[in-house]
Amino acid sequence: MKIKPALLTLSLLLILAAGCGRPPSFLPTTPAAAQPLAAASATAPAAQPPSAEAPQDKAEILKGIQRSLDLLAQAYNERNGELLQQAVDQDNPPFRRLLKTQFDDYMKSYYAGQVTFRYRVLDIEQQANGTALAQIEAFGWLRGDWLFRWNGSAWVLTEPTVEELGEKQTREDEQFIFEFYPYMGETNERVIELVERAAARVKAKLGRLPEEKAVVRIKPNYGIDPYADPNALAYFQRGNDKKPDRIELFAPFSYTFGLYDPQEGWEKDLEDTITHEYTHMTHLRAFGSAGKMMDWFGEGLAEYTADSQRVREVGDALRQGTLIPILDTSGQVYKQDLMHLYILEKDVSLAYAEAQALILFIIDRYGSLDKVWELARAHDEIQDFDQALRRTFGIGYQEFDKAWRAWMAARY
Ligand SMILES: [Zn+2]
Repeated sequence: MKIKPALLTLSLLLILAAGCGRPPSFLPTTPAAAQPLAAASATAPAAQPPSAEAPQDKAEILKGIQRSLDLLAQAYNERNGELLQQAVDQDNPPFRRLLKTQFDDYMKSYYAGQVTFRYRVLDIEQQANGTALAQIEAFGWLRGDWLFRWNGSAWVLTEPTVEELGEKQTREDEQFIFEFYPYMGETNERVIELVERAAARVKAKLGRLPEEKAVVRIKPNYGIDPYADPNALAYFQRGNDKKPDRIELFAPFSYTFGLYDPQEGWEKDLEDTITHEYTHMTHLRAFGSAGKMMDWFGEGLAEYTADSQRVREVGDALRQGTLIPILDTSGQVYKQDLMHLYILEKDVSLAYAEAQALILFIIDRYGSLDKVWELARAHDEIQDFDQALRRTFGIGYQEFDKAWRAWMAARY
């Protein structure tokens, strides 16, 4: 799966906020601020009207939402779960649990107390059912689109209930069976377009696509898939004889979509993520999971097709001597190396960056992706990295590793 870029996950946000800088954006896209938020409201089913005292005046609503945002920030800054409850809709059980879990996880994390949370409401779109979709700014620069509901005394952070999403619709094209909900209105079309563009990118980079169709579900809330990792914008789930492969993704304009960089806009974030996830499926179905014994291989490939900017993370690690080795030769049981990327205890984002750098290095040094597949197949057969390298490139691990590091040092 694609872990969210370090800069956008709640936990790692702090590193960024602390001033490490973020990768520059290369695609000049319209800031999300300029985009209409009317989509969701157009077809939102009329649920029960808000309680009679709900303020209708926009300025009043903005004030009420800001009050809840301040409470939410204060809850995090002062480690006060009581305030969290006041800011979050307590009548929406899956959402309430999600926010509580995120809060508790954060408080247990290394980062707790190291950054100052602050949120600002920028604008709202009043929905037909009385809720308000707010465009918010987080940490002074990130954007989010969060839903607020009048609970009788305050505008609390919420998400639509499963019932409010409307009946699931499906549509098929050559590669995908899309599942989506009327609640998202026109936004579904935009997401479907992004998925199709992502597939075209995978094909352009890898040369072929799976023959099997994937089910792609566009989820407008967390309640519809309450076992999903809320920190992953999308994930790929391998199917079997009875069930097709699935790509599950959170719709934009939802809390679970996460925060995004307004300079890039949410579209790029989502398209890159789908490109990453669909690469996993393509790797599995069209390339027989070649290289599957090397954990780094599939993630490196997925970051490569998605043109991830994460690869830049290798620069600092290289200079600080904290690069994760390809092979951990220390002899410990739980190896901390790229070959065992999925059991790494820390620096997972860096591991993805290094995996991408490995793929890019091989392509750059040996001319094409063919050599990448050759290495993968050699490793499948020999199950020894040093020997697979010797067969593919005519050099052993030490020499390969040295050349890879020098290649990175010259670039990042
Ligand atoms: Zn992945």
